Amino acid sequence: MPELPEVETIARDLEQKIIGLTITGVDIYDTRVLFGLSKEKFTRRLRGQTVTRVYRRGKAVVLDFADGTYLIVQVKMTGHLIYGRHLRQTKNLKDTKVVFHLSNNVYLNYNDQRLFGWLIYTDNLDTVGYFKNIGIDPVNDTFKVEWLTDELKKRTAPIKPLLMNQNFLAGIGNIYASEILYRSKIHPQKSSKTLSIDEVRRLHKVTTKVLKEAIALRGTSMRNYRDSDGKKGNYMNRIKVYGREGRECFICRTPVKRIVQTGRSTFFCEKCQT
Ligand SMILES: [Zn+2]
Repeated sequence: MPELPEVETIARDLEQKIIGLTITGVDIYDTRVLFGLSKEKFTRRLRGQTVTRVYRRGKAVVLDFADGTYLIVQVKMTGHLIYGRHLRQTKNLKDTKVVFHLSNNVYLNYNDQRLFGWLIYTDNLDTVGYFKNIGIDPVNDTFKVEWLTDELKKRTAPIKPLLMNQNFLAGIGNIYASEILYRSKIHPQKSSKTLSIDEVRRLHKVTTKVLKEAIALRGTSMRNYRDSDGKKGNYMNRIKVYGREGRECFICRTPVKRIVQTGRSTFFCEKCQT
């Protein structure tokens, strides 16, 4: 599942490519990815829209249009936004669910193999369910160590699922939660309120560092993630624990352990993370 760095990469790339362009047409091949609007209304409202900004909010890509409306794309597990040829017309790619025609005669394809993602067109971002209770963005300046200290004190949940809670911090998923805790030397099952001052400081610093590093390296490709050119991310080579069960910890050579927390695999070193 694309997390903050992958979605940030998609948004930054797209902004370079489509800013100032106008959507001249929309082809919809599967209405199940549209939320709230019929095929006809979606097509009619999107046609003629000029893109003024593209950015990430949580794990969603937001396109701002000149008339003050927005298109939100949640790529989720298997969604991709691919800029280039019309993939349905040129390659008959069945995963291509929606194609936006752009005024430079290039296309923006929304591919989704398993239909986990969605597209919403709205004139008010606050009405979108996903944004309603969204947490602080960990690569934004609003993510402060004082805030984190206060919030962790209030919570008894184990730290790993808390890091992944989108109403707490927006954008961290399973891969980066394991990586952040490994680098912070914090045990994933540790209750949030029991973290020491030093641990909270480390966690704060490492969280931002890992995410920024991953953005610089264009994200991690485990299975499905691709950027807007269809290419994989380069953070894979920096992964220390995720998916490495039974293999040696890079620091102490203890085999990396896997446990399940709230239904998701957590990878960690029981010697380095206490
Ligand atoms: Zn270790």
